[in-house]
Amino acid sequence: MKLKNKVALITASTKGIGLACANILAENGALVYIGARSEELAKEVINNIEEKGGKAKFVYFNGKEKETYTSMVNQVIENEGKLDILVNNYGVTDVRFDRDVVKGDSDKFFEIVEGNLQSVYLPCKAAIPTMIKNGGGSIVNISSIGSVIPDLSRVAYCVSKAAINSLTQNIAAQYARYNVRCNAVLPGLIGTKAALDNMSDEFIEGFLKHIPLNRIGDPCDIAKVVLFYASDDSSYITGDIEEVAGGFGKVTPQYSDSVHE
Ligand code: NAP
Repeated sequence: MKLKNKVALITASTKGIGLACANILAENGALVYIGARSEELAKEVINNIEEKGGKAKFVYFNGKEKETYTSMVNQVIENEGKLDILVNNYGVTDVRFDRDVVKGDSDKFFEIVEGNLQSVYLPCKAAIPTMIKNGGGSIVNISSIGSVIPDLSRVAYCVSKAAINSLTQNIAAQYARYNVRCNAVLPGLIGTKAALDNMSDEFIEGFLKHIPLNRIGDPCDIAKVVLFYASDDSSYITGDIEEVAGGFGKVTPQYSDSVHE
């Protein structure tokens, strides 16, 4: 029970990484707001959490409606009088248009960069003043390993996540003196619908050769690290850009040849 009496908000938390974060934060005693576009799906998540003795509520958040980036935070603060933990998990791309610089669609590039970045910037902007008033808070931004290891495609997604890393570090610097901490978690290949729908079996097989821990990550692998940054276990840490990617990019390129020959 690391988060007793804490109020948390997690965007896009009906599935995948966001859902795993909602479950682990609730198991640790937080009242978790499920930021979701579907109240029906959020209700299923809330019922499951409540059945296990946890507390959760719904707040409307839609990645396609930018006013909700701020209104969801204001709603939680109006209901609870505070917000201790903000997990900005929402993030998307469209692989049909988000390709390399030459082949990718320019309008889509800027739309994806703006959408992903605003979905982190605006909730932070709305939450930080209340966190300061309450003596502190913890923001955890879900970035991607693609923000630090360039890809052959998905340039808009990678650039948007790199911008989120920088935003994370700037917020850490600007509000550390108020005990508002801000860290980013960079998932590698995690077995969620978003990831698996966009990748062929051949791609996954090839990619796995470059993951020293030799498995696709589970959403819980990310949620455990989010819990660490959300809780006082990380009370002396801010501005981290933490890769949670099974060692991807950490070893010599010869690794895959020698281990998998
Ligand atoms: P996921 O399993 O596909 O879940 C996506 C979530 O986003 C769902 O809860 C979905 O809600 C919600 N969502 C989608 N569009 C939305 C919208 N317009 N408004 C509100 N909610 C919306 O995704 P994931 O893989 O867990 O990804 C979560 C985060 O991790 C993203 O920021 C992603 O970039 C990052 N990430 C993932 C991986 C990976 O390998 N999976 C790797 C690096 C980074 P519905 O239930 O309503 O559809």
